[in-house]
Amino acid sequence: MNETSPSVGIIGAGSAGLVAADYLSSTNNADLLIEVFDAGKSALERRCPASNQFHYCVQCKPCNIMCGVGGAGTYSSGILNLHPKIGGNLVALTGSEEAAKEAIEHVEHLFTRYSDGIELYDPSPNQWDIKRIASAEGIEFIPIKQRLMGSDHSPEIINKIHTDLVKQGVIFHLETTVIDIRLDRTFLTRDGEEFGPFDYILVAPGRFGMIWLSELAEKLGIPTKYEPLDIGVRVEVKAEIMKEICDIQRDPKFHIFTKTHDDFVRTFCTNHQGFVVLERYEDGTVGVNGHSFMEKKSKNTNFALLARINLTEPLEDSTRFGKAIANIATTLGGGKPIVQRLRDLRNGRRSTLKRLKKSNVTPTLSYEAITPGDISLAYPGRIIMNLLEGLEQLNEVIPGVASDSTLLYAPEIKYSAKKIETDDTLETTVENLYVAGDGAGLSRGIVAAGVTGLISARAIATKLETF
Ligand SMILES: Cc1cc2nc3c(=O)[nH]c(=O)nc-3n(C[C@H](O)[C@H](O)[C@H](O)COP(=O)(O)OP(=O)(O)OC[C@H]3O[C@@H](n4cnc5c(N)ncnc54)[C@H](O)[C@@H]3O)c2cc1C
Repeated sequence: MNETSPSVGIIGAGSAGLVAADYLSSTNNADLLIEVFDAGKSALERRCPASNQFHYCVQCKPCNIMCGVGGAGTYSSGILNLHPKIGGNLVALTGSEEAAKEAIEHVEHLFTRYSDGIELYDPSPNQWDIKRIASAEGIEFIPIKQRLMGSDHSPEIINKIHTDLVKQGVIFHLETTVIDIRLDRTFLTRDGEEFGPFDYILVAPGRFGMIWLSELAEKLGIPTKYEPLDIGVRVEVKAEIMKEICDIQRDPKFHIFTKTHDDFVRTFCTNHQGFVVLERYEDGTVGVNGHSFMEKKSKNTNFALLARINLTEPLEDSTRFGKAIANIATTLGGGKPIVQRLRDLRNGRRSTLKRLKKSNVTPTLSYEAITPGDISLAYPGRIIMNLLEGLEQLNEVIPGVASDSTLLYAPEIKYSAKKIETDDTLETTVENLYVAGDGAGLSRGIVAAGVTGLISARAIATKLETF
């Protein structure tokens, strides 16, 4: 490398940043300088010291679950959704079905390259029965090939990718938060260090950095757009209820339009024999999520049931709306997520510990971490109706999912990043500044984020040919 070597600065070592770094380091000349910046630590050092629970917490700064090499995917279940409609509109992003398929395979290969034990779930042979039953109910079942890394194996796989990138000459600046990007393409970090100027910049800060990125876009004059909010509950049932469908597809995706309002409700992030986990945000609100391991199993299965909210004028800011609801739910729960038996929600009464214990589903989030309560006091009526109807409709496809014993945890809210305006190559209105991943509002999943990283890396590589 010499003074005139081209350089790329990548912010965020999540799926988008790693795929981009891998592509650029393996495709381009040895002269290319690639520097990756991440606020968090390396995959195997990322441990939440605050408790032995797997949760986001205010104690780790930055959050060890969201930040560090591998990004939010490292300590997730590591389900790789290999479908162009899941995690983002990959056909629109890549330009065609064929291009989307090729890009998905590229990202899949990055993970499978480092482990041959990532189980493949292919619903193709058994999809017809489930599709027929779902279609009869007006529900769309989306068969997707999936791979499962598992929360226990993902960190090792990510660590191998990281180690290889370092061997290929990629420089990682960990525990380094970038707080500013200037028009001369230099970075300023929280510790006051300056880096650059870089010839090309890729900003892929995930959900952790989405607000920072939208503020940065405003400062740099890059247009942005609000995206819809998904709000709902984490549903927990006995594992035997979900076994048949999870044997067909590890994370079954159902798209439902509800009977009364004709609103969109979907299932998301199913964790068969998994665990519900607690999220604590820096603003004091709580939330829930779920994950599963390859080795450690629970007796329950959990998934998110989410209703989509599109806002127009006078309030387009869906995050503000979601935060208002999260605040009410957190206040009602005394700083803990609310858990309600479906029977109690239907009967218009709160759950109490005594009532919860009558359910044959024992919550995988400990009784100390939850508050038995009434979700209908925290959520607007339309959302409650959508969730109840969505669950009833789903019960026709998965009998027992809407039983009296079913547990509902709230709030579960999927905030959307503001979408950063780009061209087809994901270059912003600032020349040579690219964006990728969830933080730019382009994706909502490990593979989709990786595909966006690949799109921008390929565009940078093309420019490098004439550098
Ligand atoms: C609990 C949980 C479970 C999930 N399960 C799944 C799953 O099974 N399957 C699936 O497909 N998806 C899952 N997801 C979503 C998935 O993790 C994300 O969609 C994916 O990681 C997004 O990739 P990304 O590269 O856009 O961002 P991220 O993976 O979020 O990475 C962004 C990185 O940028 C860094 N960063 C942010 N701002 C700065 C800054 N200013 N300076 C320096 N560094 C910065 C962060 O530290 C972070 O490491 C899950 C998410 C969570 C939270």
